[in-house]
Amino acid sequence: MLHEILRAHGGRLPDDVIVAFANTGKEHMKTLRFVHECETRWSVRIHWVEWRKGARGFELVGYNSASQRGEPFRALIESKQRLPNGHERWCTEYLKVLPIFALMRHQLGLEPGGYEEVIGLRDDEGLRIFSGMERAAKTGRSVTYPLAKAKVRKDDVWRFWLGENLDARRLGHPLPQGFDLGLHPWEGNCDFCFLKGKGIRKRIIRDNMVVPAWWAARELSTGGQFDKRDSVEDLIAQVRKTPSLFDSADDEEYDVECGLHCGEAA
Ligand code: SF4
Repeated sequence: MLHEILRAHGGRLPDDVIVAFANTGKEHMKTLRFVHECETRWSVRIHWVEWRKGARGFELVGYNSASQRGEPFRALIESKQRLPNGHERWCTEYLKVLPIFALMRHQLGLEPGGYEEVIGLRDDEGLRIFSGMERAAKTGRSVTYPLAKAKVRKDDVWRFWLGENLDARRLGHPLPQGFDLGLHPWEGNCDFCFLKGKGIRKRIIRDNMVVPAWWAARELSTGGQFDKRDSVEDLIAQVRKTPSLFDSADDEEYDVECGLHCGEAA
């Protein structure tokens, strides 16, 4: 979406268009590199923001200074003295939405509703778009979905990034943009988000035992669980017991792990 908006403006955005990326501290390293590649290759300022407790509500960071060890997320959990879960998903609002609102207040002196939020949901993400519009209408915000308006679908996005590799199903051709995110779809957003399906989280544990450690430590320190059904330690134990048994994760909806907000950018 950003690439196409830049193209529509001759490669340079108007001064009052702010591009933002909210880092939870638990993003995959490849996500951070990807955002950095977008800003450097396309010569566009991307405002990297992180949640901070206090009146200002955010900190401006950059590729080199961005948290990679979950510091903003951990500070939020410590401030709340409990964990988010599927029913109380306040991490999305605090770590993604509010820092971007705070940035807009700081940069342009505007409150939500005083500007248009441009969100990269596709045409095939209809339900998410309707829910987003409904929620925006309730709170007096203005949202727009240019990819959906242009009828851009998942395959179009894959083709934009992978080109001929999409047909070959392996990287044998140059990438059309010279780079891409390089993650499996289920690896996006926070690296062990509790909204990812159980099969996916077990697969992530199998791929890299280090990933769940941070999440297990938060459960230990608060005495809570991100997922009422299985603690992180339970999942690790299940994987240890059957290391070669792969749960079916194919039918799990890996691209909705963070619901509506964590996929949004303003
Ligand atoms: S990706 Fe998951 S854990 Fe991270 S902020 Fe969003 S809902 Fe919370």
